[in-house]
Amino acid sequence: MSDVRVRFCPSPTGNPHVGMVRTALFNWAFARHTGGTFVFRIEDTDSARDSEESYDALLAALRWLGLDWDEGPEVGGPYGPYRQSERRENYSAMVQRLLESGHAYECFCSPEELEVRRKQAMAEKRAPGYDGHCRDLSAEQRAIFTAEGREAVVRFRMPDRDFTWNDLIRGDITFAAGQVPDYVLQRANGEPLYTLVNPVDDAAMHITHVLRGEDLLSSTPRQIALYEAMIEIDAFAGPVPQFGHLPYVMGEGNKKLSKRDPESSLQMYRDEGYLPEGLVNYLALLGWSPGGDVEFFSKQQMAESFTLERVNPNPARFDLKKCTAINGDWIRSLGAQELVDRLLPYLVRDGVVSDPPSPAQVDLVRAVVPLISERMETLGQASGMVGFLFVDEVVVDPDDAAKIMGEEAVQVLGAAHEALSELSDWSTESIEAALRAALIDGLGLKPKVAFGPVRLAVTGRRVSPPLFESMDLLGPDTSLARIAALRGA
Ligand code: GLU
Ligand code: ZN
Repeated sequence: MSDVRVRFCPSPTGNPHVGMVRTALFNWAFARHTGGTFVFRIEDTDSARDSEESYDALLAALRWLGLDWDEGPEVGGPYGPYRQSERRENYSAMVQRLLESGHAYECFCSPEELEVRRKQAMAEKRAPGYDGHCRDLSAEQRAIFTAEGREAVVRFRMPDRDFTWNDLIRGDITFAAGQVPDYVLQRANGEPLYTLVNPVDDAAMHITHVLRGEDLLSSTPRQIALYEAMIEIDAFAGPVPQFGHLPYVMGEGNKKLSKRDPESSLQMYRDEGYLPEGLVNYLALLGWSPGGDVEFFSKQQMAESFTLERVNPNPARFDLKKCTAINGDWIRSLGAQELVDRLLPYLVRDGVVSDPPSPAQVDLVRAVVPLISERMETLGQASGMVGFLFVDEVVVDPDDAAKIMGEEAVQVLGAAHEALSELSDWSTESIEAALRAALIDGLGLKPKVAFGPVRLAVTGRRVSPPLFESMDLLGPDTSLARIAALRGA
């Protein structure tokens, strides 16, 4: 075990998204690489926005992806509880100490007053942040405000100096004195804010490295100032953690990928049948690579070679096509039985097989998997590809039929039916030989024209798993009945 302690600390609002998962993954990989500890903490201090549903979804997401945590919900650990909603006393006690030591103060300004002054500052080309109005109120002034019925937020008093840190990913970063205004630690109703609870818990949980998205860069000088205040009042032994800010993830049109973009939703990947291995592999590439041209690797391999030096500070581009292609590679890397096991839940969901699947259905899935694994990029695509094998009567796609059917096609189906009816042995090879002889040699057709109508009749579509193998699996009776049905249609 090393001393490295990192954390993933999402707020349980909304649905898990890929930006979040990328942060979790990089923290996980860093912990595993260094032999450190991966802490999972839930930042649920905003009762208006947090939900239990979202909390459950977060845990399910990490479990599905295989990002195991060493301390956190359901696992416990020496610095629990790991839900901030269960740690309230720590925060109010800390606010008290910061107030008493003068590192924080009560601010009685109403939102309306703040807004008026903010606009004025903008008009006068001054910085629009909080102006320090209540920094040095006397006890009498505070009493008057309270008597007026005003409620106070608690603000942190930012020291008047530069804040510099050596970012583990971006190098030296400085926020100049005066650039960061005094900020709110606790709402008027007593609810503590992220700015307070996050450093308080990172300190309490002995976090050594804070790896998080670049969108949080501006909270870092505030948090460093708060750590230093906590050290000064002996509320924290130090040292201040090191910080590394992971690059932005850009979506379509070079805009930052938003939580609301459909490709952000983790649930979308589960629904469409991405493998957790494939998604983890792709998300790792958003800002990191193992070097060389290597783009296919497991999370264990990532953990082995993960260093922060290799994290690229430049924005990463999210490319769903590439993500899907990598998923296809992962699908092909699975053993046959494994692929069947992973496919069955999707086939059940889509009503292709029964729930639970019958032994005959499982056998058929096993037989067809080798025919489609080359063409499949997500597990969810399988239902459309193999559905025709599991129904009595196939539904012919009307658009495909419009493109293929005509006089010539009817003739093809007639010749195919006749040739196949005479087959004494029904195998992939004999089917192919009979159809080639009848359609290509007999009718003088090109393969595409010859086999298109047969494919449509048997599978219902223009694009399908390999035709002769499919007919072999369907058997002679069904195959012939489908050809006859389309010919007569
Ligand atoms: N709860 C914060 C968030 O979800 C944590 C950010 C951090 O890592 O400091 O954005
Ligand atoms: Zn004020």
